[in-house]
Amino acid sequence: MIIIMKPGASAAAIDNIVEIIQNNGLETHLSTGHEVTIIGVVGDKTVLADKNLEIAEGVDRILPVTESYKLANKKFHPEPTVVTVGNAHIGGDSLVIMSGPCAVESAEQVMETAVAIKKAGAQILRGGAYKPRTSPYSFQGMEEDGLKLMKEAREATGLPVVCEVTSQAAIEAAVKYVDMLQIGARNMQNFFLLKEVGKTGLPVLLKRGLSATIEEWLNAAEYILAEGNPNVVLCERGIRTFETATRNTLDLSAIPVIRSKSHLPVIVDPSHATGVRDYVKPLALAAVAAGADGLMIETHPCPEKALSDGPQSLTFPQFEELCAVLRPIASLMGKPLI
Ligand code: PEP
Ligand code: MN
Repeated sequence: MIIIMKPGASAAAIDNIVEIIQNNGLETHLSTGHEVTIIGVVGDKTVLADKNLEIAEGVDRILPVTESYKLANKKFHPEPTVVTVGNAHIGGDSLVIMSGPCAVESAEQVMETAVAIKKAGAQILRGGAYKPRTSPYSFQGMEEDGLKLMKEAREATGLPVVCEVTSQAAIEAAVKYVDMLQIGARNMQNFFLLKEVGKTGLPVLLKRGLSATIEEWLNAAEYILAEGNPNVVLCERGIRTFETATRNTLDLSAIPVIRSKSHLPVIVDPSHATGVRDYVKPLALAAVAAGADGLMIETHPCPEKALSDGPQSLTFPQFEELCAVLRPIASLMGKPLI
């Protein structure tokens, strides 16, 4: 961190800042120009968080030199992280596809979906039991009963399962049934929830917030990692822009940006990004070509009857076709679908 003093800041003001920093166990490096003095700070800056140096006498501005996220930062952890969920290794040598309905609706729906997506090539079953819906009058999910159905589908097919959690109570229930917890876009900055999923030690799928910058997203991941849980997978699911032709705008540039800044695996969800079934395939292919570690694709036995997100859900034949088209691209990218 660099502290830039105001032109003509008094020697007393500069000494005061240096003293505060040194009294907190950090080193200072002074650069005295004709007009401006710059104070370089070396050490763990978190100890200065409550010192309000920005408003101290003589201070003009403070510039961070390193990112606030450390555990998620590639600089301090250059090796890519591989997150294991059942038999799937996200961030490893192969592409991982998670698929299933937006919401768990019935035992038949979940079981039928699990069998179909496994046959097509998916390795993880998804399905929401706690649904964060925009309208309080929309279907809110089957809650614990839904989690039980996901567990039954896992037992029948061997597919590990991922479910979204929206509260402390949902976490307490989900840890009994699921292999991976999902934090949805709307909760990406629910810091309490992030800490709680961190404490479970279960792998966490962290979706990008609707209006979150990549920096905010990585700081959200940092909350989970800071609880001693290294198993975080990031999921780009589209962001809010001025464009209304799609539900959100898929930010594929997030993939190379995350790669350059973090060691965490990153997957793409073209279903929520577009909201339109016909756009899912082209963007899934583009995501793999851009280097994604995996995909999340919503599927339903009968999208016309889905209780949520039917318009963006693929039928099983459509999903099978998508996987078939993906295979050569995934192999070309060095991450085959196995
Ligand atoms: C979901 O995965 O069903 C979901 C609600 O996604 P998001 O949080 O990305 O909107
Ligand atoms: Mn959905």
